[in-house]
Amino acid sequence: MEDRQQMLRQLPAMEKLLQAAEKWPAFEDQHRNLIAEALRGVLAKARSALKAGAAADISEAGLLQAAATEYEGLLLPGLRRVINATGITLHTNLGRAPLSQRAQRQITEVAQGYNSLEYDLTRGERGSRYAHVEQLICRLTGAEAALVVNNNAAAVILTMAALARGREVIVSRGELVEIGGSFRMPEVIEESGARLVEVGTTNKTHLADYRRAITGETAVLLKVHTSNYRIVGFAAQPAPQELSALAREAGLPVVEDLGSGTLLPIGEAGWQEPMVAQRLAAGLDIVTFSGDKLLGAGQAGIIAGKKQYVDQMKKHPLLRALRIDKLSLAALEGTLRDYLYGNPQQDIPVWRMLSMTEEELRQKAVTLHTIITERLPGGQAAVIPTRAPAGGGSLPASEFAGYSVTVTLTAVSASQAEGKLRRRKVPVICRVQDGQMLFDVRCLEDADMEEIAQALAELG
Ligand SMILES: *Cc1c(COP(=O)(O)O)cnc(C)c1O
Repeated sequence: MEDRQQMLRQLPAMEKLLQAAEKWPAFEDQHRNLIAEALRGVLAKARSALKAGAAADISEAGLLQAAATEYEGLLLPGLRRVINATGITLHTNLGRAPLSQRAQRQITEVAQGYNSLEYDLTRGERGSRYAHVEQLICRLTGAEAALVVNNNAAAVILTMAALARGREVIVSRGELVEIGGSFRMPEVIEESGARLVEVGTTNKTHLADYRRAITGETAVLLKVHTSNYRIVGFAAQPAPQELSALAREAGLPVVEDLGSGTLLPIGEAGWQEPMVAQRLAAGLDIVTFSGDKLLGAGQAGIIAGKKQYVDQMKKHPLLRALRIDKLSLAALEGTLRDYLYGNPQQDIPVWRMLSMTEEELRQKAVTLHTIITERLPGGQAAVIPTRAPAGGGSLPASEFAGYSVTVTLTAVSASQAEGKLRRRKVPVICRVQDGQMLFDVRCLEDADMEEIAQALAELG
């Protein structure tokens, strides 16, 4: 005990450690306050260890060494790049869509200084942030007018608030979805100040059900894309054309929350996601969809359709609270330009990844296998066919066939290794299945494959 008391008194002073740290390469030309924070943490740990009667290295070198490790962690931002080896392209926890080159350039340019966010450069007066993308969206979807907000959840709330506050919204019981992150359609409608009127049953809703529910209080017929599930078997919903004919007859707007939606025609390989332009052509008055699902941009919610309704939303007081920020807007404009002026299937990462053929994926897995095996310290690796969903509630009926490299290490268990890969400076996120690590190659860039091999080599 005496000993510990003495050691506590012998702990080097903060000032002395700070001076010594200046000479250590690990802390080179870095921030004094961060070094101090690391040292304080290390000293506190040593103090409580000694007080608890445990052993502690209180030599100057020992403390500085521990502080250097702590310091490295402090330098790392919490929100940082990771390598996605899950095979899930639109992984919501991993930031959904990776951005195209054009979108990245536009963000950097806008972030570097002042910009024309709300300034009309032609007239030299106040402009609208929405003007930068409205025409692009209209050209891509055939809509008369468009507006963008923070995300698709916000787009639905704004649409309902502007068109149906204090009145009734008719929705099929088969479409009262919960999307995740507590976005539940009945609650969203309630929050917007509208009253929900449910019609039909879980599996079947007929046009007549909507017709019977229409009263003088009805404001909107709402369709919701059942993004993350599918009702199969004895199931039916009226076609968008039928619903829009009924709405027209009743003098009401019909709105659809498309969830992901798509700007490019899909349909090959059983892909099922409504195309925005087709829905508008079928007579829907307003559609809403996400910016960071299949569209492939950053977080945003897009509202497109008839001008008379979009104008009501542009004037609504909620718009100010739901508005999109300049960096997301830059990403969106860049991505929309990819669709109009580039080669979207190649330029937009989400499309490039999802449209890879099985043979291309197999070859990519063989490449990763080779790079990994060259440096694998001890263990085994193999190429196997695997399947993964698209993610983000998109394409729920499709699991995409692809390829993965499985790895087992002699020195560490798969779950320990997974944890170590996840806590790296550049984290590698992989799956563990049947005691093996699984690296799906769909979402990997070439440089990522090198990094994975390097990371595994370090685990040796
Ligand atoms: C994903 C989704 C939303 C939410 O979109 P965010 O852009 O994530 O806010 C809303 N409705 C449907 C049907 C969805 O699939």
